[in-house]
Amino acid sequence: MIRNLKLVQYNNYCKQKRVVAKLHEKVANQRRDFLHKLSNRIANDYDVVCIEDLNMKAMGQCLNLGKSVFDNGWGMFTSFLNYKLEDKGKVLVKVGKWYPSSKTCSVCGYEKEELSLNEREWECPNCHTIHDRDMNAAINIKRQGLHMLGYDENRGAHGDSSLILSTVVLLSEKPPLL
Ligand SMILES: [Zn+2]
Repeated sequence: MIRNLKLVQYNNYCKQKRVVAKLHEKVANQRRDFLHKLSNRIANDYDVVCIEDLNMKAMGQCLNLGKSVFDNGWGMFTSFLNYKLEDKGKVLVKVGKWYPSSKTCSVCGYEKEELSLNEREWECPNCHTIHDRDMNAAINIKRQGLHMLGYDENRGAHGDSSLILSTVVLLSEKPPLL
C-alpha cells in the first residue's frame, strides 16, 4: 500500500515536472518571439544602432540577482539585432563597457567620480543640469558610438561612408578613441 502511494506520488511528481517544463518552454518561446519582433522593428527603423556592451553575467552577480534573472536575454537580443542590421547593410556599434556612460554629463562632459546604482537622478556639479540616469547614459552611448564610426554630431560625417555602413564595430577591448 505504502509502496503504491509512493508510486502515485512519484507519478504526480513526474507529471508536475512535465507541466512545469512545458510552461518554461512556452515562456522561452514567447520571449524569443518578443525579442525577434523588437529587433526587427529597430533594424527596420534605424541605420545605426549604438548599444552598451554590457556584461550581464557580471551585472547579475554584482546586483545579487542571480543568472536566471537575465537568462542571457540581452545576449540573445543583441545577436538578433546584430544579424538583422547586418542583413540590411546596417551597423550595430558596441560601446565598450568601460566607457563611463552613466556618470559623464552629456551636456558639459564633466565626469562624476562616483555614481551608485540607486542614484536614478543626479545633478552635474559643473553645469547643474539634472540628469535622468538612463537618458543621460543613452545620449552618451549614442554620441560615443557615432564617434567610433567617425561621425561627429556637430561636424557631420567624414571619412568613407561605405565603410561606415559595412563595418560592425566591436571595440569593447579597446579604450574609446577620444
Ligand atoms: Zn555638466
